[in-house]
Amino acid sequence: MDSRIELLCRSLPAKGLDAILVSNPYNRQYLTGFKARETDLSSSAGQVLATGQGVYLFTNPILAEQAKIETSGLELVVYEREPYVAIANAARGAGVKTLGFEPDSLTAAAFRALEQAAGKDIKLIATENAVEELRVRKDPEEITLIHKAVEITDRAFVEVTTGLTEGTTEAVLAWELEKAMRELGAEALAFDMVVGAGPNAALPHAIPSGKPIKAGEPVVIDMGARYEGYCADLTRTICIGQTSEQFRRIYDIVLRAQLAAESSIQAGQTASEADAFARRVIEDAGFGAEFNHSLGHGVGLAVHEVPRIGKDSPAVLEEGMVITVEPGIYIPGWGGVRIEDTVVVRESGIEILSQAPKEVFPV
Ligand code: ZN
Ligand code: ZN
Repeated sequence: MDSRIELLCRSLPAKGLDAILVSNPYNRQYLTGFKARETDLSSSAGQVLATGQGVYLFTNPILAEQAKIETSGLELVVYEREPYVAIANAARGAGVKTLGFEPDSLTAAAFRALEQAAGKDIKLIATENAVEELRVRKDPEEITLIHKAVEITDRAFVEVTTGLTEGTTEAVLAWELEKAMRELGAEALAFDMVVGAGPNAALPHAIPSGKPIKAGEPVVIDMGARYEGYCADLTRTICIGQTSEQFRRIYDIVLRAQLAAESSIQAGQTASEADAFARRVIEDAGFGAEFNHSLGHGVGLAVHEVPRIGKDSPAVLEEGMVITVEPGIYIPGWGGVRIEDTVVVRESGIEILSQAPKEVFPV
């Protein structure tokens, strides 16, 4: 099978590039296996220079040993202070005249340093999704890892929400869910967990607070485990005790929207068509304005990656893409409902990985 780096290098001439500098941590890991992460915005854990002649990984002395252990088949360059001087020198040595870079993953200061080091003889060209285009279709091993992350997430959700009682705070619930995921084998959370009860459930990205959960109010839980680098993304909306008529009405619309999308999405459709399967149901019910985000997004090494599944997304769905299907309705002051599964796009439909129950159980 073609290596990921070979595929990347083969795509460069059509982009007018002799080489590309990969600074995005997920792209770096995808191409080389190097798992190090930036500790803050201004320090890079490493960068990959892929040229037709060879592949280089630039990193700092602290991470050099880790890079040696985790990577193979590339030239490791350990720099002391000036990564971009080392990068430009290697590019020059490989005869690079046009060098692609990832504008989303370089700070302005880093770009300035790169520009200075590149001088007049290397032309810098901003690229878009050069590596993400490869990451977007998952191979079977990647799908297995995502599936494992999803299973951990599902099990933790069921374990912790079964028997959940009134008065538990959002923050305690979030911690119980986190603990359960870690105990079940998650290496980390895929993202900061969302737990929003009552009016907080109207905030799609509610931060778990000290608010006690009351019976009868919607509780939106958006959670995901990370397993060997790969993410799961699951949202369920639950209710302790008796549900109100309003809750049942909104929940039913969101669930119908999600099921409509899940039974219709397949490879070959555009992402905007996929979005419309769910959006139509919500709009027809009169809540179009209250569904104020996209239907979903790609999931992989990053919890949010291409393709975006939105109203105006031109991306075409392909076999092997892993995406979320997550319609929601948010009503300020009352709360909200979102239901989200992680799914694999297949030729004739989708394979739903998330198995956490969707019935609103009075727990
Ligand atoms: Zn989510
Ligand atoms: Zn999501």
